[in-house]
Amino acid sequence: MEHLVEIKNLRKHFGRLEVLNDIQFHIDKGDVITVIGSSGSGKSTLLRCINLLEIPDAGEILIHGKDILKGDIDINKHRASVGMVFQSFNLFNNMSVLKNCMIGQMTVLKRSREESQKKAEAFLEKVGMSQFAGASPAQLSGGQRQRVAIGRAIVRNPQVFLMDEPLSNLDAKLRNQMRAEIIKLRQRIDTTFIYVTHDQTEAMTLGDRIVIMKDGFIQQIGTPQEVFEHPINIFVAGFIGSPQMNLFDAKLIKTESGYQVEVQGAVMPLSKKIQSSLAAKSVPSQAVKLGIRPEHIHLEETAGTHTISSKVDVSEMMGSEIHLHVDANGKDVVLRIPTTDLAEEYRGGMGYGTEILFTFREDLIHLFDSESGA
Ligand code: ADP
Ligand code: MG
Repeated sequence: MEHLVEIKNLRKHFGRLEVLNDIQFHIDKGDVITVIGSSGSGKSTLLRCINLLEIPDAGEILIHGKDILKGDIDINKHRASVGMVFQSFNLFNNMSVLKNCMIGQMTVLKRSREESQKKAEAFLEKVGMSQFAGASPAQLSGGQRQRVAIGRAIVRNPQVFLMDEPLSNLDAKLRNQMRAEIIKLRQRIDTTFIYVTHDQTEAMTLGDRIVIMKDGFIQQIGTPQEVFEHPINIFVAGFIGSPQMNLFDAKLIKTESGYQVEVQGAVMPLSKKIQSSLAAKSVPSQAVKLGIRPEHIHLEETAGTHTISSKVDVSEMMGSEIHLHVDANGKDVVLRIPTTDLAEEYRGGMGYGTEILFTFREDLIHLFDSESGA
C-alpha cells in the first residue's frame, strides 16, 4: 500500500556526528505520529530533512510514493504541501497577524491577495483571534503567537503538518490548553501530523503512534499503549511513564516447575504468560534487569518470600494517590499507591521511616537482558 509519507534508511551527519541513522517509518493520511527523544537526538534534523531544509546523506523520503530527494520535485510545491510550525514560531513582528497568515499563501501557493486574506480572516475568526488581526505578533502572549503560527500553516492547507516542539516555549498551564486545542484542531481539519516533542504527555496523548529516538536511532515505534506496556528495551522503559519505571539487578532462575526471579532477597513469582514466553525461547537462568512501574507495586501486610521490606524516605500526597519513595536495603524504589488502598491512618501520607512491605504484580514485571538492555 502506498503511504502518504514513507521514510526509508534515512541518514544525515554533521561533521563526524551521525545525527540520523537508518531512520525508517511511514505515515498514512489522517495519522498523527509523534516523535519523541531527548534534546540532541535528531528530531529537528529529521523534520528539516522532510521539509528539505537539510539534504540527507542517504535514504528516501517518499510522499505519495514519489521520492522528494530525487530529481524532478519542485521544492516550492513540496514546501507548500508540507506545513511547518517551529518551536520559535518564526513570525514576522514587522507584519500584522493577518499578513503573517497571508504571506505564505501568496508566495508559496500563489493564491491571490483577496483569497489569501479571506482564508486568513476565516481562520482567525475560528480560533477567536479576529480582534488581533491588525496587531503585531510582538504584542501577543505566547499562546496567541502560537495559535497564529499554527494558523499560518493551516491556511495553506498542507497535506502534512510538521510541528517541531510547538508548545515547548509555553508555561505549563497554557501547554495543557494548547494540547487540547491541537487535539480539537485535528478533529476539525482531518490532516496528517508529524509532531516532534520531548514531552511524553504530548507524545502519548497526541500520537496515534510514537516514534522514540535516541542518538539518531529509532528505538521503538508503536501505539502509546504498546510502548507503555511492551517497551522494547530499558531506554524506552525508562523514557515512557512517569514516575519512571523502577529497575533492579535481579536473577532469573529456571526451575523444574518454571521460572521465578530473585530480587532484593525476595523470590518473585512470574505470571504464566511471562513464563511461557521465556520457555518458548529456552531462556536459561541468568542475571537480568527487572523493571516494574511504580503503579504495579503493591503493599503487603505480612512478610513472605515474595515481599521486600523497606523504609519510607518521602511520601508525596497527590490527592487520589500517594507516591512513596522508599529505601529497600540501600535501593531507592518509587511506589504509587491509590489512597483508597491505604489504611485510614496513612491516607494523608506516611511518615519518614515507616516500615512497609511490598511486592510486584507478577504479570506486569518486565525483564531485560542485563547486557544489551533488550
Ligand atoms: P533535537 O531536535 O532532537 O534536539 P537536533 O536534530 O536539533 O536534535 O540535533 C541533533 C544533533 O545534531 C545535535 O547534536 C546538534 O548539535 C547537531 N546539529 C544540528 N544541526 C546542526 C548543524 N547545522 N550543524 C552541526 N551540527 C548540527
Ligand atoms: Mg529540536
